[in-house]
Amino acid sequence: MLVENNFEIKKLTSFKIGGKIAKMIFPETVEEFVRALRENEGAFVAGNLSNTLVSSNDFDGVVISTSKLNSIKIEGNRVTAGAGVRGPKLSQTVGEKGLSGLEFMIGFPGSVGGEVYMNAGANGQCIADSLKSAKIYCLEKGLVTLTDLEFGYRTSICQKKNYIVLEAEFELTPSAGVKEKMEENLAFRKAHQPSLALPNCGSIFKNPEGHSAGRLLDECGVKGLSVGGVKVWENHANFIVNYNDGTSEDVVRLMREMQKRVKEKFDIELKPEIRFLGEEL
Ligand SMILES: Cc1cc2nc3c(=O)[nH]c(=O)nc-3n(C[C@H](O)[C@H](O)[C@H](O)COP(=O)(O)OP(=O)(O)OC[C@H]3O[C@@H](n4cnc5c(N)ncnc54)[C@H](O)[C@@H]3O)c2cc1C
Repeated sequence: MLVENNFEIKKLTSFKIGGKIAKMIFPETVEEFVRALRENEGAFVAGNLSNTLVSSNDFDGVVISTSKLNSIKIEGNRVTAGAGVRGPKLSQTVGEKGLSGLEFMIGFPGSVGGEVYMNAGANGQCIADSLKSAKIYCLEKGLVTLTDLEFGYRTSICQKKNYIVLEAEFELTPSAGVKEKMEENLAFRKAHQPSLALPNCGSIFKNPEGHSAGRLLDECGVKGLSVGGVKVWENHANFIVNYNDGTSEDVVRLMREMQKRVKEKFDIELKPEIRFLGEEL
């Protein structure tokens, strides 16, 4: 399997932020992946790095990428995808077969494993709605197939127990209008979210119960607020964009300021939706 030392991870992150990774591994099969996990206990598992703020300082550890676990198998209305399959590719592939359930994946750059881990969702759909089972690696039992992943808002059992997703099986519904729904989702995104030409990491904070993080932040006047090379996007206050070669430290400082303002004005603690590698809030 491919192993790269001193890997420049910045080129793979949607934020275009991140230092060098001491050892980056790209397993090509589930067996190789399990071997890499066993040989590198505590390694960070990376999907498409569209929800992770990677430290701009070099990281003296191991990162294992799912990017080469990219097979898709369709049998009737069941589809099995490797953890590294890109959401838009999966959405497009099942959409062409008229299968509904994954239209939401079309417009953002996650991988299947990262999306299961996060219970990603958009436009009224989420992973939990159609996931039938997942092939998981866990330290205690090795490879297991789980049907209940204890999904909640942007969370799953994988976050609590450090489970690694290797494959996911979805049960979809044959339906008319799947392509139209995907087009609608894409149009919504164009109108409301920054494209990756402005490097970003999706929504920065989770919505607190009963509130929209974007609205709270907007009312605190943070749009356009900048630290170093990053700023709060002018069109949506829950996005930070890296407009001028910003660093992870810039992002963290800006996030703290955003949290502080919302706490002072509304007495609400914003919790990050993004994940961290070698950096903390
Ligand atoms: C422009 C843009 C728009 C976005 N819009 C949305 C949206 O509408 N809805 C939404 O939910 N998200 C959105 N996101 C965020 C992001 O795409 C999702 O959270 C996605 O699920 C992350 O997948 P990833 O593969 O990029 O995860 P990564 O960033 O690679 O990883 C995220 C976390 O998952 C863990 N992880 C990754 N793969 C695995 C695995 N196989 N097993 C176990 N753990 C793993 C990582 O260790 C990390 O903790 C958006 C992001 C961008 C940049």
